[in-house]
Amino acid sequence: MSALLDVKREFPILAQSARGKPLVYLDSAATTQKPRAVLEALRRYYEEDNANVHRAVHLLSERATKAYEGAREKVAAFLNAPSIREIVFTRGTTEAINLVAHTFGRTRVGAGDEVLVTHLEHHSNIVPWQMLCQSKGAALKVVPVLDNGELDLAVLDRLLGPKTKLLALGHVSNALGTINPVRDIVAKAKAKGIPVLIDGAQAVPHLKVDVQALGCDFYAFSGHKLYGPTGIGALWAKAEHLDAMPPWQGGGDMIASVRFEETLYNVPPAKFEAGTPDISGAVGLGAAIDWLTALGLDRVEAHEKALLEKGTALLSAVPGLTLVGTARHKAGVLSFTMEGIHPHDIGTVLDRQGIAIRTGHHCAQPLMERFGVAATARASLGVYNTEADLEVLAKGLTKVREMFA
Ligand code: PLP
Repeated sequence: MSALLDVKREFPILAQSARGKPLVYLDSAATTQKPRAVLEALRRYYEEDNANVHRAVHLLSERATKAYEGAREKVAAFLNAPSIREIVFTRGTTEAINLVAHTFGRTRVGAGDEVLVTHLEHHSNIVPWQMLCQSKGAALKVVPVLDNGELDLAVLDRLLGPKTKLLALGHVSNALGTINPVRDIVAKAKAKGIPVLIDGAQAVPHLKVDVQALGCDFYAFSGHKLYGPTGIGALWAKAEHLDAMPPWQGGGDMIASVRFEETLYNVPPAKFEAGTPDISGAVGLGAAIDWLTALGLDRVEAHEKALLEKGTALLSAVPGLTLVGTARHKAGVLSFTMEGIHPHDIGTVLDRQGIAIRTGHHCAQPLMERFGVAATARASLGVYNTEADLEVLAKGLTKVREMFA
């Protein structure tokens, strides 16, 4: 098997040594590295176009506005959103979900209602709903997960009921890599008239996403997991929801007119973007989307699938290692434990060999509890990873075992 993509060279940060060894970066689920195209776009924006958006007639402001709104068009095309009016820039997935909880949630969820999440969720798709339910006297319900890391869809069917005001679920699990059958799940919820929010943080870097084909109501993602900058992300929401939802943060840009007696709000998406936005972040995100699209998400998917298979085989051969999460459909995440060795020790020993993985609960404490562990070690893949990276990881794990044997 030969890796289909060869793009490591386009990522300057990956050329360095770590602890005197060539850096092997296997922490892309936490954040991805940035290709030169993104770094260049950020530099060019600040060197040539930087100004505030939407508010001035001068040339630089015109250019900055064009760049910012141009990025919105790129996000809309990337998700196949019907309209650019449906793209709200946020700080990331967390802020996008909080936005929906504070607006849609606040107006739609009342005492005795239910919000349905799954046991696979990242904390950012649990806590905002828990806070909402607590403040409204509503109940948070949870779809269980099977031993292989797949959702228990039979129970999901039963939990989607007349009291369910929203289903909020992840497209891809950051902790286990499970790819949920979101299209089928959305269809089940919509058949009962239940709106669906999808946390796409771990999906957009790996899979082609089409929000119209999915049929969901909200889709959230973060730029930094998509080879773009930190501090920027987006919420896609159906126009009918954005029109009906109240604003959540007040300030500049989200208004049509302000009087002490009454403020009239702007139309979406401006209604949800109070204050100076992360303009350069949006520009960088647009560049990341261009870069990934040119590479081709089909090829990215094939590349990562091949690496995942190779990594699964290599890690399964390490004595005493147990993979946590063995769903039939997985993205490039290898979560594991090693008998008698704490995940943090695994991470520390690997780090000394220049290998960057993540250890801990991965912001999914309920899921860790479900699998009876406090933490796992997690190697997660990006487009720049190679078979050689996985071989270095496997060798590194053999060293870990030798040290603790
Ligand atoms: N949802 C999932 C599945 C994630 O993996 C993450 C980040 O790890 C988030 C949400 C939160 O993303 P952010 O911290 O960029 O808002």
